[in-house]
Amino acid sequence: MMRSVSVIASPLRRIGPVTVCQGSRRGFSNSQNLQATWGFIGLGRMGFPMARNLRAKLPSHDVLFIQDVNKNATKKFLEENPEGVRIADNVREVAEKSETIITVLPEPHHVAGVYKQMIEPPSLLRNGFSAKERLFIDCSTIDPMTSRSVADAAHSSGQGKFIDAPMSGGVVGAQAGTLTFMIGAPDEIVDRATETLSMMGRRVLHLGDQGSGLHGKLANNYLLALNNIATAEAMNMGIQWGLDPKALASMINISTGKCWPSEVNNPVPGVVEGSPACRGYEGGFGVALANKDLKLAIQACKEHGIKTTLGDHAKIIYDEVEAAEDCKGRDFSVVYRYIGGKE
Ligand code: NAD
Repeated sequence: MMRSVSVIASPLRRIGPVTVCQGSRRGFSNSQNLQATWGFIGLGRMGFPMARNLRAKLPSHDVLFIQDVNKNATKKFLEENPEGVRIADNVREVAEKSETIITVLPEPHHVAGVYKQMIEPPSLLRNGFSAKERLFIDCSTIDPMTSRSVADAAHSSGQGKFIDAPMSGGVVGAQAGTLTFMIGAPDEIVDRATETLSMMGRRVLHLGDQGSGLHGKLANNYLLALNNIATAEAMNMGIQWGLDPKALASMINISTGKCWPSEVNNPVPGVVEGSPACRGYEGGFGVALANKDLKLAIQACKEHGIKTTLGDHAKIIYDEVEAAEDCKGRDFSVVYRYIGGKE
């Protein structure tokens, strides 16, 4: 089914078959309306700066309830953002007291566990709490099947709507508030979700019903994982044949091999100024996260009987890169080092 892609902050336009709607940000500072209580669960590398941006853009009278199993994270957040922030005792309290709840958690089992605690028993809209239907926005990168089962549980409990909103842009984007969110949500929730996410990011792309955000994210990151290895190998072969690395990259980047790893995140030190490769592969998109997304994409393909030919082999490579002493914990372009590329 054809879907619209909503992007924050400019007029409607159409790109090919895709509608790109850019509406103005809602005037939260003037609105005394219903979204007055907010919840944020998971104040890690992504969640902490996202929650900070959210708090900064909310009207001062709104309240943000936060929770993380890491008590240092919630304590630090409150110290840095003392106005309008409360630490909830547990995630159930977040769900009881907040009308819009954002989760940014590491793995599928964290998401499943947190939502189970939030929605059981199904009395959130009673017992003196806000009667407004909850909007649960999960920004974690998890498998679509777990996401679907959490959505089904939330919807069948009658307490609210659950949407998947995985993101790209990394920690830098989370800090700068320039993330891109890919959302899977029914049309009637898109505006409410977009208004919320626009406080933490620059673009919200609506890809379809629940689960579509994750499918889009995983398809993209599958391609990225493969392009990254292919770029490292292509750069390595050209350099070994005696080509100048910058000349080779320039040629590729005006030719058919051009891709994000060749143009922006080139794995060869010195080719793209400021890239992780230029600083010993520090920072950037960690190899463990790249490998996690690849694993989730392969798993979701298997569940749907979709044939892939390169993914399993790429997974073996990333497993080895992740374990290699001189590669682990670094940007995924370190695969160039793993294959013996000249640095
Ligand atoms: P992180 O490990 O830094 O943060 C996760 C946080 O969740 C931690 O603070 C942890 O204590 C908390 N947490 C875990 N279990 C919890 C529970 N039961 N209740 C409350 N809090 C709990 O991870 P991250 O890098 O912030 O990534 C979060 C998600 O975003 C992941 O799914 C990741 O794949 C995705 N993502 C990360 C990046 C990135 O560059 N880091 C980019 C895009 C997407």
